[in-house]
Amino acid sequence: MGTDSISVFAERKGQILVAGSGQESISCDKQSLSGAVSQRACVFCGARVVLYPIADALHLVHGPIGCAAYTWDIRGALSSGPELHRMSFSTDMREREVIFGAEKKLEQSLRELIAKYQPRGAFVYSTCVAGVIGDDIEAVCKRVEADVGIPVIAVQSEGFKGNKRAGYSAACKAIDRLVGTGDTTGIGPLSINILGDFNLAGEIWLIRQYYEKMGLQVVANVTGDGRIDDIRRSHGAKLNVVQCSGATMELAKYMKEKHDVPFLRVSYFGIEDMAESLYAVARHFQDVDWQVMERARKIVADELKTLVPEMKELKKRLQGKTAAIYVGGAFKAFSLIKAFRHLGMKVTLVGSQTGTEEDYREIQQVCDPGTVIVDDANPLELGAFLRDNDVDILVGGVKERPIAYKLGLGFCDHNHERKLALEGFLGMRNFAKEVAATVESPIWKLVPRRIGRTTAGTSLTTETVGKES
Ligand code: SF4
Repeated sequence: MGTDSISVFAERKGQILVAGSGQESISCDKQSLSGAVSQRACVFCGARVVLYPIADALHLVHGPIGCAAYTWDIRGALSSGPELHRMSFSTDMREREVIFGAEKKLEQSLRELIAKYQPRGAFVYSTCVAGVIGDDIEAVCKRVEADVGIPVIAVQSEGFKGNKRAGYSAACKAIDRLVGTGDTTGIGPLSINILGDFNLAGEIWLIRQYYEKMGLQVVANVTGDGRIDDIRRSHGAKLNVVQCSGATMELAKYMKEKHDVPFLRVSYFGIEDMAESLYAVARHFQDVDWQVMERARKIVADELKTLVPEMKELKKRLQGKTAAIYVGGAFKAFSLIKAFRHLGMKVTLVGSQTGTEEDYREIQQVCDPGTVIVDDANPLELGAFLRDNDVDILVGGVKERPIAYKLGLGFCDHNHERKLALEGFLGMRNFAKEVAATVESPIWKLVPRRIGRTTAGTSLTTETVGKES
């Protein structure tokens, strides 16, 4: 059992909470502490995550080349058709442009790229440097749009403007400019848009299949495997089904206000949440077609027939192991906590980059007493916690992977870089198998720190989280 306690900056004390300790709220949705090396990404990255999967759009990063580091290889959003999104274009701003302005270079790049690739629309992302030198990206986009006849949208995503959540907001504002500009002919009464799914490893195709088997028409994917023209007519759909707590919720709210399209918040991870998502959508359309619920039940029953026995087998192997979760959006964490329960595993840490007060309240309700809940953590805190608690597996994204491996413990990629579908019933099967294979890998027996380990346990308490490092 780990006996060390972790040190935390005094300013971050309110951003850590131990479930069941009596502390009711957590401080969140604020700027990262300077010098604490947050795991959180910048505004530009938040916007890029949301918009990038729109596959027939041109994505042009207006800034130095480094901002465009998220290239096709580490973002797994797949497309069933065009793949323009996998090209990473940048204006590659250099010293000369930083001094004299880069609007000319931007306009030239835009015109050249649009002529060459004939996209259905273009997004131009503003980065820190573009914001600092005051380039009028909006004016350039308007000028080019007037000439080329496709939407050319400025995304106001200067990295310093806030945190990743502000990037989601910038992306929603950009998509909102497309919605309502297309023809809604042919959209029926049983129609939905899928929001907040990025089609990592082809997940949106799985989810679409479920909905289509239920008899629903999917008008637009926003944004995984997305198409500009579908998004332009998406206001004709009768329901927005929104996955993920942060990324596209703002867009759903705009669409409710402006086009009277209601929305439902869902999650496609884990058995209960996947099933409940289908039931919730079915309930919404029950008055239009009473058989839609029957079809949803049949999908769930068919899937569970094979999945449940497999899960029981894996549970026998994983019973009592421990997991830590550190993800971008908090909503995903709810489903992961439940998924680990199905595997007989105990979650001892849940953290997110962009959770809201409401998200963290809900997390407190679903996790066991003693679970540590963290907002906007840094690598030192995460590392200390994982080591101190002898966690068996960390679930996170690209920035958390090295922390786990350096500590000699298992890691499961649950972010945009993964190549394995984790949504839907198939995704739960994949997830369970991956967790088992990782946790049971014989390699961990060779980690000096873990030789002779006994059981996991936490020594992090509300008394220790206030200690300054
Ligand atoms: S913080 Fe600024 S400079 Fe860094 S990647 Fe984000 S936009 Fe680019």
